[in-house]
This record gives sequence, structure tokens and C-alpha cells, in this order.
Amino acid sequence: MARIDELITEASEILRLNGISEARREAKSLLALALNRGASYIFAHPEYDLSEEEFVKFKIFIERRSNREPFQHISGKQEFWGLDFRVSPEVLIPRPETENLVEAAIDVLRESIESEICEVGIGSGCISISILNDIKTARAIGLDISEDALLIAKENAKRHNVSQRLTLKISDLFDELSGEKFYMIVANPPYVPASNMESLQPEVRNFDPVIALTDGKNGLSIIEKIIKRSPAYLMEGGFLLLEIGFNQSDHVGKMFDGEIWREIEIIPDLQGIPRIVKAQIHGT
Ligand code: GLN
Repeated sequence: MARIDELITEASEILRLNGISEARREAKSLLALALNRGASYIFAHPEYDLSEEEFVKFKIFIERRSNREPFQHISGKQEFWGLDFRVSPEVLIPRPETENLVEAAIDVLRESIESEICEVGIGSGCISISILNDIKTARAIGLDISEDALLIAKENAKRHNVSQRLTLKISDLFDELSGEKFYMIVANPPYVPASNMESLQPEVRNFDPVIALTDGKNGLSIIEKIIKRSPAYLMEGGFLLLEIGFNQSDHVGKMFDGEIWREIEIIPDLQGIPRIVKAQIHGT
């Protein structure tokens, strides 16, 4: 049909014309995916001649990616915190900056004998499952308004052997909880302001679930609801950890009532952008 080296050159050009920045690298990865082989095979066998079936598969992958569908929707997975997560259009693709949230949560839990966690808007499950994978004594409840998202989280929990310690529940924010108290609440809420949606990359704007990205308002409304409602679900001395967006830390800091919360800490991501808010509730 066609040789690997020729196809890579041709496909890179198509991707590049469609605005994909690392076109050659992506073409190679998509070819490796179509051939069901590791990247090293592509390097080692430039002369390999694809079968008709492999060629058709690769062509479809290139068409999908040219349409700016995320690579992760084509491969069906994304690595996060060193673990492989299944992803689909029903869940936000895990982002590297969210590893800062996992790291901060694990740091807190390592210092404590308490380890009951609640995640609001669990999506793919990447945050809770990563925490449970590292902290073997921890248990979590994962809430999500999307049943389809919960199915993906369930699959990921099974894949990483934490199903026994992760309860999944369909719930709009905390609505379906009944009096449970947690040591930690974590969330990566939809914080993109509605007015910023148009400026996002097409992969994000057109393929990540809109409800996982934006509140449809100024980006702060769901963050505020979580901050205001969390005290009812936290035990004394418990923590709330939230991912927030660019330029939101000043607004978010002001949402914490000093009578209820102490030690509000803002943790920057690797780009130096304030990304995680960590707050501890007053305890005895
Ligand atoms: N950080 C994400 C992005 O823009 C947004 C995720 C979110 O709103 N929680 O790509």
C-alpha cells in the first residue's frame, strides 16, 4: 500500500496544514496506534509496507486528528500521575496541571491518620484514583452529575484496583450526600469563564464536555458553591483542595470566610500560575 516513511511525511503535512503544531510527532504516534505497535517500530522499520486494513485505519486517524479531535479520544487513553486512564468524550481529558492537586492532596494525607475523601465532579476519576493508588488506607466517594462519566470512572477504578475503596454516586455537587463527613474534599470544577470558551483550542472547545469546562457564567460560580457548601461535609480540621483557573486566585481567596477557614494556601503550577487552593477548616 504505502511505506511508513512516506506516509509519515505525507500525514505530517496534512496535520500541519490543519494547525497541529507537533505534526510529525503526532503522525508517528497515530501510525504506531494504527499498527498497534510501539513508537520504536516506526523508527526501526521506515520501509514497512502497510496492509490495506492498516492504511485505512491510519487514514481515518489522520482525518479525525485533522478535524482537531484530541489524540486522546483516538487512542482512548491519557497518562496521569504515572497511570494510564481510559478517556472518552464524556470526561475531561486529564491535564498535567491537575497533578498539582493530586500532589497537594497526597502531601496532606501522608501527614494524617484520617483519609476519607470526597471528590466533587469526579469525571474520569484521575484525581481520586491517583490518590487512592498512593494512599492505601484512603477511601473516597466520587460524585458526578454525568452518569456516563461515572461509567468511565468505574472502569478506571477497576483498572487500577481501587474499586473497593471508591464509591461512585450520581449527584449534582453535594446534593445526594446525606450527612457524611470527610477529611478532604477535592475538585477540579468547571472554571473557564463563558466569555473565554471561544478562545480555547478546538480540541478543548469542541471535544471536552462543556459542563466540565465552564459554568456558563464568569467561571467562579461553581467554585463558590463548593466553598460555601463544603463546611457541612468536612470534619473538624478537614481540608478543601480545588483547582482554579488563570487569574482567579484573588477572587477565590475572598470566598473563604475567616471564621470558618484558616490557612488558605495558593499553590502555583509549573508555569507559575496560581492553580490550587488549599484551605483547612477550623478544628479543635
Ligand atoms: N484546565 C482546563 C483547560 O482549560 C479547564 C478545566 C476546568 O475547567 N476545570 O484546559
